[in-house]
Amino acid sequence: MVKINENYLKLKSSYLFSEIAKRVAAFQCENPGREIIKMGIGDVTRALPGACIRAFHAAVDEMSADSTFRGYGPEQGYDFLREKIADRDFRSRGADISPDEIFVSDGAKSDTGNFQELFSNDVRIAIPDPVYPVYIDTNVMAGRAGDSRSGRYDGIAYLDCTESNGFVPDPPAEKLDLIYLCYPNNPTGATATKEKLAEWVEYARRNKSVILFDAAYEAFIRDGSIPHSIYEIDGARDVAVEFRSFSKTAGFTGTRCAYTVVPKSCNGYDSSGNPQSLHPLWFRRCSTKFNGVSYPVQRAAEAVFSEEGAVQTREIIDDYLGNAKIVRESFSSLGYKCTGGDNSPYIWIDTATDSWKFFDMLLAKAGVVCTPGEGFGNCGRGYIRISAFNTRKNVEKAMEKIKDLLKNGIK
Ligand code: PLP
Repeated sequence: MVKINENYLKLKSSYLFSEIAKRVAAFQCENPGREIIKMGIGDVTRALPGACIRAFHAAVDEMSADSTFRGYGPEQGYDFLREKIADRDFRSRGADISPDEIFVSDGAKSDTGNFQELFSNDVRIAIPDPVYPVYIDTNVMAGRAGDSRSGRYDGIAYLDCTESNGFVPDPPAEKLDLIYLCYPNNPTGATATKEKLAEWVEYARRNKSVILFDAAYEAFIRDGSIPHSIYEIDGARDVAVEFRSFSKTAGFTGTRCAYTVVPKSCNGYDSSGNPQSLHPLWFRRCSTKFNGVSYPVQRAAEAVFSEEGAVQTREIIDDYLGNAKIVRESFSSLGYKCTGGDNSPYIWIDTATDSWKFFDMLLAKAGVVCTPGEGFGNCGRGYIRISAFNTRKNVEKAMEKIKDLLKNGIK
């Protein structure tokens, strides 16, 4: 008899998106032909930048001739890409990261999900609420989360992100080992200041903890005072791992390319309390379980850093940020409290009622689909997330319908 990993049975069903799909399908069935605008999606809608497409094509052509063909690539990714990442994403911001501390991967989802494998099963995990669910679910699968009660797992320390802390948690008094942080945040759209990240870095140094910092939405930061990388904070190299992605930066959600930074000075500890660098452990993990991102995709990602690619990427993100501004201004003008949408593609809206009730009303009366906040955690109750990943036309149309519906309050 082969036994299963029973931790999988402790996972909560991915209720959120299936429930949304079910309610939208029921609405469509009852209202055939009625237009629906989906404002809940976390996937990009604009095509890859032209510079990336050209580099992609050229690299595919190289694969067609024996003289330029490439087979398995270097374990951590090609030098041409890692050197550009180190220079442009880190050194240009004063962050001391070298190319051999960068691991190119097929996604920040896989890396944020897999990185926990490097740590002992009894480490104390801290996870914000609301949150991108991957951090929780992968720790549940690994057997670290314990049992679930009232929407929370016993073995996880939840960091509440609420209006009162600006959706950025303070380091707690208790000692926690592995801390997940994500800024700009999905789902709240909130950003973390240098001072707040410095408090977390100081906490991690004091407690010999590690921060797993997800910066998948870094490219949406426009406010010059907000750090793009945790390594802009002194001392972070020794206590933080950072995850980045080309998905939201340059439309690679379907193409797949991301990277993880593991500084050589970032340590965990063995059972005797001796420091062990995480870099060789992650190298070993990647070279055992992963065979790299395809050559054409790495060439396409490299083109993001070309002069043309940088201009095109910025234009696309500015377009999404323009959508976000319209959403934020529309809801604010109706008297709703909004977070995010200025340095992030997500707007987190306090509905002052039940999230699912609000979801049903927007769908039934405006034909607009949003994401109920409670799907991201208990602290998301009463909120909805609206995404800026859409066409300008759809965003304007959706906001007109919502303004019409809500101008006299909720009916
Ligand atoms: N991290 C966060 C916070 C996300 O919201 C997402 C995708 O929605 C990812 C990571 C996944 O990125 P990737 O497409 O690189 O796997």
